[in-house]
Amino acid sequence: MKVLIVNCGSSSLKYQVIDSDSEEVLAKGLCERIGIDGRLVYQKTGEDKEITDAPMPTHKEAIRMVLDALVNPKTGCISGLGEIEAVGHRLVHGGEKFAESCLLNEEVLKTVEECNDLAPLHNPANLIGVRACQELMKDVPMVGVFDTAFHQTMPKKAYIYGLPYEYYEKYALRKYGFHGTSHSFVSKKVAEVEGRDDLKIVVCHLGNGASICAVNAGKSVDTSMGLTPLEGLIMGTRSGDIDPSVMEFLAKKEGLDIPGVMNVLNKKSGVEGISGVSSDFRDLENAMEEGNERAILAVEAFSYRVAKYVGAYAAAMNGVDVIAFTAGIGENTVSVREKVLSTLTFLGLTLDVEANKKRGEDYMTITTPDSKVKAVVVATNEELAICRETVRLVK
Ligand code: ADP
Repeated sequence: MKVLIVNCGSSSLKYQVIDSDSEEVLAKGLCERIGIDGRLVYQKTGEDKEITDAPMPTHKEAIRMVLDALVNPKTGCISGLGEIEAVGHRLVHGGEKFAESCLLNEEVLKTVEECNDLAPLHNPANLIGVRACQELMKDVPMVGVFDTAFHQTMPKKAYIYGLPYEYYEKYALRKYGFHGTSHSFVSKKVAEVEGRDDLKIVVCHLGNGASICAVNAGKSVDTSMGLTPLEGLIMGTRSGDIDPSVMEFLAKKEGLDIPGVMNVLNKKSGVEGISGVSSDFRDLENAMEEGNERAILAVEAFSYRVAKYVGAYAAAMNGVDVIAFTAGIGENTVSVREKVLSTLTFLGLTLDVEANKKRGEDYMTITTPDSKVKAVVVATNEELAICRETVRLVK
């Protein structure tokens, strides 16, 4: 079955076409600057990238351009749209209403809409993508795969905030967690490769957005992101955990209103804010080599926070068998893994320094054979996970 995977942001849209039988990617790309001017990037597997600038006033024109590119007689990856048998949509927030992926019908979409308050930037954009696909691909089944769903197994003591309980009752104000598709994919992969389904795994999804998840016997029992993706780790440009009083302090000192403070916490903080260099770890590593003290501090602070969360989640599960690193930084930034694991030797963990320097494998162990706790690097693949879910529900 050929499946189109769609991930709609407020002004962008990423897509892939996957053949679910071979699990091969047939084509992929993105639309950028939707509503501003518009640019389509399309790449058929094995061919060069094509970039086309064209107006995309809304997501509908963007999706139409994607579909046209897919069936282009010269460079397309399919001969007609009829070949697409299902569409899988990444949906950010399913609130407490979705603990699993779901076939999207009118009733389900209304329920997703009810979660918009919880993710006012992401959910409406996701839904616009679904509606646009429905219009252009009538009768093709659509599936929604939620970033929050995997974490719905967290116990209440993990997701309740230390706030008046009535806010939870009135507004469902609580920790939800994100990156669930990735945490689920990676923890399943670890269980499969290690041949055990009772493992206590701490998954470190370290990308531009970063979160950690405690997975006990296949179930998420705690995670570092919260009501929104702002909580937890220091990220590319997000602050992660801070004293909430910082907000009042900054508002007074800098003359900011609430959106102004939120802008600082979401877009101007994190390793970019600390270093003043960049949110990208490749730039930070270059700056570190040149001796840039703030870049060094940013990476130290980032890694220290990761290590503290791993320690906390080992406590949450009363033990840890495997620590898994994934996403852009987790899969590629050797120095971060080394810094994190060097503070976890108290767990009986011994890093294999040479193995940790390797790259490019889908699954590799980076601790020594006698290490009591295993650390592994696992390539995440959220699109493939969405594809598998889509096929499962459509079939
Ligand atoms: P997101 O999906 O949240 O945008 P990614 O998972 O793509 O994030 O991760 C982006 C981060 O990963 C950036 O900080 C980038 O520097 C880092 N990264 C990606 N590839 C490499 C690489 N080859 N070497 C070092 N860091 C990398």
